[in-house]
Amino acid sequence: MMYESECLICKQATLGVPGWDGAVGHRDPVLAPWEGEGETVEGRMHFACVQTWSHKDAFFNELAAAYTGAPGSTVELRDARTGQLVTVRRETAEEYLPVHTEPGCLILAEQTVKSWTVLDTDLGWIRLGPRDAARIAADDRDPVEGGWAPVEFDRDVPLEAADWSVGQLLDHLDLEPHYPGLRETPGVAVDLDFVAPDMTLRAVQVAVRAPLLVPERVRGYFAGLLAAEGADAFKVVLPD
Ligand SMILES: [Zn+2]
Repeated sequence: MMYESECLICKQATLGVPGWDGAVGHRDPVLAPWEGEGETVEGRMHFACVQTWSHKDAFFNELAAAYTGAPGSTVELRDARTGQLVTVRRETAEEYLPVHTEPGCLILAEQTVKSWTVLDTDLGWIRLGPRDAARIAADDRDPVEGGWAPVEFDRDVPLEAADWSVGQLLDHLDLEPHYPGLRETPGVAVDLDFVAPDMTLRAVQVAVRAPLLVPERVRGYFAGLLAAEGADAFKVVLPD
C-alpha cells in the first residue's frame, strides 16, 4: 500500500523509511484531542518531528488506545462533511494483543500473523517480523532491516535521481533535519522510480530501507521471550 508522503507535523515529504518515519490512522482512528472533540490524526510523520512535537505525549496515548481499545469499543469521530459526531467501532484492537507494557513502551503481538508492533516514545513505531524479532532476542547486533514502505510525492527531481544515494536525496529535498543520522548509517538502500517520467512535474515513488534502531528495552523484552518460550516463540505456524 502506498501512502501520501507529507509529514503531518512539518508538512515536508517523508521518504518511507521504517524506523525513521511512519503512518498512523489508516486503520483504526487515532484521536487528536488537541485539535478538538472527535478530531483524528491520519497520515505520515517523521519520527524526529514526533520527538519534539508539543503533542507527543497525548499522541502516543491515543496511538496506544487505537491498538488496545476493548474489542467492540467505540469512539466518537467528527464527520468532516457534516461536522457532526459519529460513533465508530474500533477494529484494530481485536488483532493485537498487548504483550509488554512499561512507561513509554508498548509491544503488541499480532494475532493472525507472527509479527509484533512496537510503540516506543524514544523512537516511534515499528513492526517486526519473526526473523528480526528472533535476531533481536538472541542479541544479534547486526542491523535489522526496516523493510520497504513506498511513498509517492510530486516534488520535481531530475532523472538521475534514480541513482542517488540517500544523502543526495536528503540534500535535494532539504530533509536532512528530519532524518538525523540516516545519511551516516551504513547499509541504507534507496529505490526511486518515476511514476510519470515524460511529464514536466514528475511524480516520484521512493522507498528507503535502513537498519532499524531498536531500543534496549525492546531488546530486553524479546530476550525475555526467548528465555521463557524458546525458539518456538518466533516460529511461524502455518494454518492447517
Ligand atoms: Zn516532519
